[in-house]
Amino acid sequence: MSKQQITRRSLVKCFAVVASVSLARSSESEPEVTIVEFNDAGEKIGPARVKKVLHTEAEWRKLLTLQQFYVTRKGTSDLAYYGTYFKLRDAGLYRCVCCGSAVFSSQTKFDSPSGYACFSAVIAEENIRTYVDMAEEPKRVDVICKRCDAHLGYEYNDGPEPTHLRFAINESAVKFIPLKKSAPGG
Ligand SMILES: [Zn+2]
Repeated sequence: MSKQQITRRSLVKCFAVVASVSLARSSESEPEVTIVEFNDAGEKIGPARVKKVLHTEAEWRKLLTLQQFYVTRKGTSDLAYYGTYFKLRDAGLYRCVCCGSAVFSSQTKFDSPSGYACFSAVIAEENIRTYVDMAEEPKRVDVICKRCDAHLGYEYNDGPEPTHLRFAINESAVKFIPLKKSAPGG
């Protein structure tokens, strides 16, 4: 191997390391995300590049009730049959309680004996991310709001057809917006 080859190789390696470090940094502290926006009539507005909603723990404590804070920011769960959403059948949207992103729709909600509001699909894949909690056994899939990192609930694979998914969502993590008819012409 010539000296020139070695230099080129180590240079390429060096660039690769720099590139991967900057990629990792940008995804960790990415200040913007792409989500799909919906109006309160449940109509899809379309994808939008939005700023992430970031607050300190002290700020979240002020903005949320204690129950909302522990569920969304600390990853705890409401007790089963808490509140009214688990049995709610009204048409409307469920928005993240922390940032207002639309996360679920009554269109995919189904009655579940679990005591949680259960959905067979997310309103838009872009609006959430999932995370497999390897520390828990059996492994649980956390459902997290992409815009503000709120813990919303868990995803299971025992849902109805066609997705066979069941998103069990904490009432304290979402706010139900009853369906409103959109204004004429808009
Ligand atoms: Zn959110």
